[in-house]
Amino acid sequence: MRVDKFLHDMNLGTRTQIRKLVRDGYVAVNGELVKTGRVKVVPEVDLVTVKNEEVKYQEFFYYVLNKPIGVLTATEDRKQKTVMDLFNKVDYRSDLFPVGRLDKDTEGLLLITNNGNMAHRLLSPEHHVTKVYHAVVTGNMDESVIQEFKDGVTLKDGTKLKAAELEILSYSELENQTTVQIKITEGKYHQVRRMFGATGERVVGLRRVAFGPLTLDSGVIPGNYRALTDEELEALG
Ligand code: URA
Repeated sequence: MRVDKFLHDMNLGTRTQIRKLVRDGYVAVNGELVKTGRVKVVPEVDLVTVKNEEVKYQEFFYYVLNKPIGVLTATEDRKQKTVMDLFNKVDYRSDLFPVGRLDKDTEGLLLITNNGNMAHRLLSPEHHVTKVYHAVVTGNMDESVIQEFKDGVTLKDGTKLKAAELEILSYSELENQTTVQIKITEGKYHQVRRMFGATGERVVGLRRVAFGPLTLDSGVIPGNYRALTDEELEALG
């Protein structure tokens, strides 16, 4: 790989900026200043430095993001804010994308990566990644809904869903709302809202709290993100 591509891949600037870094004598390979960006390097073998600081090569990037309400799950949009707009300049890369989607009015955990193969695998129906949501629904939910979810809900359009685990967490008499936890293994469009629609409830708040082995920790407030740990990456497989 050319050293200018290496530096571009590692977000060290635009091609013009990288050309200038080389021209100004800031880029070295194995301790030797390079005169042209065409010099070839082998990532993870050759030592590449910029201003005497080592630049490590990383092919794939993984983040957990806490999506706030009102932000689109998309890589770009001409009018509305997207989850990629939440990244700061240092971490933003044009090849990052969200794995799956949350509705504009859903908040919570979203995996963001540039690893297409992994995303494809995690989203494939055979993979059965468990997604956990907390939902606030109107009314005092009847416990019979738990069994309906267990048996597999049939959506209003006739789609029969797989078994889902429903747990009633709390009921607020004041608001007349029930907070529940729901675990699903499929990823159909508006699935959770449509499931409750089919059983006669209306979702007024929805937050994803887990995606496979990934969970949101308290440090990642809505609008924030963090890199996956090595353990999380391993657990994702
Ligand atoms: N189910 C929904 O209805 N919406 C989401 O954003 C995610 C799951």
